[in-house]
Amino acid sequence: MNYSKKNVKDIDLKGKRVLLRCDFNVPLSKETGEITDDTRIVAALPTIRYLLDEGAALVACSHLGKPKGEYKASLSLAPVAVRLSELLGQEVIFAKDTIGEDAKSKASALKPGEIMLLENTRFDKGEEKCDPEFSKALAAFGEVFVSDAFGTVHRAHASTKGVADYLPAVSGFLIDKELEIMGKALEAPKRPFVCILGGAKVSDKIGVINNLLEKADTIIIGGGMAYTFLKAQGYEVGNSLLEADRVEYAAEMIKKAKEKGVRFLLPVDTAVHTTFENTEDFLTVPSSEIPEGYMGLDIGKESIKLFSEAVADAGTVIWNGPMGVFEFPAFAEGTKSVARAMASSGAITIIGGGDSAAAVTQLGFADKMTHISTGGGASLEFLEGLELPGVACLEDR
Ligand code: AMP
Repeated sequence: MNYSKKNVKDIDLKGKRVLLRCDFNVPLSKETGEITDDTRIVAALPTIRYLLDEGAALVACSHLGKPKGEYKASLSLAPVAVRLSELLGQEVIFAKDTIGEDAKSKASALKPGEIMLLENTRFDKGEEKCDPEFSKALAAFGEVFVSDAFGTVHRAHASTKGVADYLPAVSGFLIDKELEIMGKALEAPKRPFVCILGGAKVSDKIGVINNLLEKADTIIIGGGMAYTFLKAQGYEVGNSLLEADRVEYAAEMIKKAKEKGVRFLLPVDTAVHTTFENTEDFLTVPSSEIPEGYMGLDIGKESIKLFSEAVADAGTVIWNGPMGVFEFPAFAEGTKSVARAMASSGAITIIGGGDSAAAVTQLGFADKMTHISTGGGASLEFLEGLELPGVACLEDR
């Protein structure tokens, strides 16, 4: 996959009508409908400000939630328009529909330096089907398409890919940074290149492990998925998470790592308990000696030391997935320690979205990382080496 794509600085935008795909898929309060976290809106500001300063007339669009092709008042982007307007310090005109009369008339009256936001793209059935008619209607709002929603580039939808059939397409600053940093890490990483993978399931990350085995110097596996690998090494894992149908695959990966000279680190000790609950009353045992009736809920102190040492002298570190059941404070230590080790290493540090990003932010380490990816699913597919439709459709450099 080619990660070298044109961005907004590579084209002339003066007086142009620009269709901008943002990621305004923000969490809303179930009770009040208010935006509970505006991080994604704030993240979109640099691209929006740049386009407005360049004198573009900006038609922004995004999806929000999963309305399944139907209008749902609770998933309207209206509150986003209000918040965006506050943050920008200028009016954000809101269209009550996506490609309907209100959107069309407001777009035709839009002047350079002004911004409007269309209603939720997923209110239209054409969005997720990447319907050509819907794509064409969206594309009619711009002379250029700027894509800046990294969280949805792994989806071939009308507003992420379809519109690029009708418009010259470039990236905004968010996608540009994702491509620049993650692309470089995969193509020419500063070595040693250490990849840390955790989370619940091996099956979700098979493609990622397979791809990273071709590129990394060290692979570290923690979290629930580690037990399938420990089982593959012949250990009993008690009641820990286990994907019995992946044990063979795990053994193959360990073998492949050996053949390729990739260091493959598993937890050497494990915090275990008899029940799945937040309790300080746990035991720490060697990973080869998990007692019957116990389940592994976090990596132990020796593993933390081993993993932290591997991170300390790394050139590049990519991390995706918690080391334990970090939702329980008693079992969050492994996840916190990896975040800490990354924050204090001199390496290029990349957080692959989702739970790891949340952990890093909660701990106040966000500004100590080189890059926190804005897309969980998208960054996983990126790490798998898959072609991302919303990136492939952008113009090459
Ligand atoms: P994922 O969505 O695959 O990244 O998995 C994240 C989930 O994995 C979190 O909700 C964690 O609680 C869970 N998890 C991590 N370690 C374990 C473990 N040892 N046992 C059970 N669940 C775990």
